[in-house]
Order: sequence, then structure tokens, then C-alpha cells
Amino acid sequence: MTAARLDGAAIARELRAGFAARVQRLAAAGIRPGLAVVLVGDDPASRVYVRNKVQACEAIGMLSDAHVLGADTTEAAVLERIAALNGDPRIDGVLVQLPLPAHIDEDAIVEAIATHKDVDGFHRENVGALSQGRPGFVPCTPRGVVAMLDHAGVELRGKEAVVVGRSNIVGKPMAQLLTARDATVTLCHSRTVDLAAHTRRADVLVVAAGRPLMIGADMVKPGAVVIDVGIHRGSDGKLCGDVDYDACREVASLISPVPGGVGPMTITMLLANTLDAAERRAARG
Ligand code: NAP
Repeated sequence: MTAARLDGAAIARELRAGFAARVQRLAAAGIRPGLAVVLVGDDPASRVYVRNKVQACEAIGMLSDAHVLGADTTEAAVLERIAALNGDPRIDGVLVQLPLPAHIDEDAIVEAIATHKDVDGFHRENVGALSQGRPGFVPCTPRGVVAMLDHAGVELRGKEAVVVGRSNIVGKPMAQLLTARDATVTLCHSRTVDLAAHTRRADVLVVAAGRPLMIGADMVKPGAVVIDVGIHRGSDGKLCGDVDYDACREVASLISPVPGGVGPMTITMLLANTLDAAERRAARG
């Protein structure tokens, strides 16, 4: 069997076209969705991420407001900037690009973001909402994975789902979303004994371990759906994921590539979360 390719880039394009129409409808009501992105320091990768987020907003007609602060900015100054954005009526979403410089307490910064503007979904209140099944912002990468699966018509109810990786931003919320969709979920991590025994049982396998090409064909159940969240740049400059795509596509039924899989969906879900917040603002009047 050769798996079909789950083309996140194409799904993202389709979804973003729908978002542009929602932005136009809001414009008719006098509202322009606004996303503020705060970057502290000059990490080159973070700069690229922020630029991509700003461009994605602007491409669908949303307001983007980038705040680039020097690497020596104090925690108090970052908190002050967040407080200003929390109170800014033009801004629906506030995102602080992580990681932050070592002298700044990331938790304190994330907790300072108003919960109704926390479009990354990292605030404790939104983490709790997800785990209790209450409405709130869902972190962008796992929300993007579910959106991809839904787009492809993958039934999750009653399926064996295995998530590799238990980070707060990907693995744990991923496991909760799959549980909420009635999959039976196993969450694996670096201390899991016999990882392959778990992954081979998965009807749906989501890999977010940050280990290049760690999932080989012998770790995949025939016919499984495989989603690769990992992203790595090799010494040859090429990107690869946590999954050996070429080998696993001979076993799986559906598989997401890297690049062009989960990556484009993550920014798309940031737009979705911001748009949701703007529509709530419009509903409040
Ligand atoms: P992370 O915070 O480093 O977490 C990695 C997780 O994988 C940890 O829970 C770790 O277990 C587990 N793990 C590590 N090695 C393992 C092994 N050999 N077997 C089983 N589990 C193992 O990483 P992250 O932020 O979740 O990101 C994971 C990957 O996704 C990275 O490549 C990252 O670049 C990528 N990513 C992509 C996107 C996107 O939009 N495409 C978004 C976010 C992240 P322990 O908890 O036991 O340490």
C-alpha cells in the first residue's frame, strides 16, 4: 500500500480563503481582527516565525501589530507592553514568541496575557478549559492536526490514537483533543518502554518528539494515519520530520509530509483563533 499524502499546505490555503471571507464580513460590521505579536531579542528563527505570522495576517486582511523588543528588555517592561495590548480595543489576540531570553520568566509572561486574547492557548485558564471540555483557545498545532484529520474525513471515534511526545504545547493538548473526539489515546514519551509496541497499535499516530526520522516503517500499523509534527533542518539544508516519510508511506494509508504538512496548519489555526476572538468581540457589540 502507498499512502495518500495529507497535504497541509493545500488544506491551509483552502481554510485561509474561507477566513478572508469571514474578515470581509467583520469589516462590514466595522471590525478588523487584530493580532499583536511580541518578540523579545534577536533569535533568527523567532524573527522568521514572527514575520510569517505577520504576513499571514495581512494576506487575509487582518491587522498585525509586531512589537520587537531588545534582548535586554526587562520582564517588567514586557509585562507593561502586554498590559497595554490587553487593554487595546483593536487587538483580539496577543502572542508572545517563545522562547524568551533567560532573564524573563516565561510563565509570568504567559499568565499576564488576558485569557480572552490568549490565541496561543498557553494560559493556565485555557489549558484548564481544554482539559475540562470548556470553551477556550486551543493551542494552534494540535488544533491544526485535528483540522487536517477532519478535512480528510478521518473518523476518530473509537480509534486507537497514539501520541508520541508530551509537551505542553503539542503532545498533551493533542492527547486531550483526540480524547474529546472519542479516540482511545495513549500518550508516549522518552521514558516509554517499547515505544514501537505502542505505535504499532495506532490507527492514528501523531508524532511530536523532536527526533529526526525516529519513526520507521516497522513502527507503523498497516493502513494507519500518520501525522508528523516534528520539523528539523538537516546539515544538507533540507527539512525532515520525526517520521521517515518515504518508508512509512509504503505502510500507512494517509501520511503528512514535512515540509507542507502540519507546519502551514499551525499558522492557519493562529488566524482561526484570532478570528474567533474578533467574532466574539463583534457579538459583544
Ligand atoms: P519538546 O518540548 O522537546 O517535547 C518533546 C517530547 O517528545 C517530550 O515529551 C519527550 O519526552 C518526547 N520524546 C523525546 N524523545 C523521545 C523518544 N525517543 N521517544 C519517545 N518520546 C520522546 O518538543 P515540542 O515543542 O513538543 O516539539 C516536538 C517537535 O515538533 C519538534 O521537532 C518541534 O520543532 C516540532 N514542532 C512543530 C510545529 C509545527 O508547527 N510543525 C509546532 C510545534 C513543534 P519527555 O517528556 O519524557 O522528555
